[in-house]
Amino acid sequence: MDLQPEVSVQCPYCWETIDLLLDASAGTQEYIEDCSVCCRPIIVHVSFLYDEPEVWVEPEMD
Ligand SMILES: [Zn+2]
Repeated sequence: MDLQPEVSVQCPYCWETIDLLLDASAGTQEYIEDCSVCCRPIIVHVSFLYDEPEVWVEPEMD
């Protein structure tokens, strides 16, 4: 199992594809990552099912 899998997600604000480096040792997690293109805060959800990372993102709500 790759402990730092890299995944590509689409920014929910600017729709650019950005790469995220995950920390598999942290397991299922949720954190905020600033988009590398538009710098807006993206809520990143990660779960590890069958050792494969499943990632989805959503915009931060006011
Ligand atoms: Zn963006």
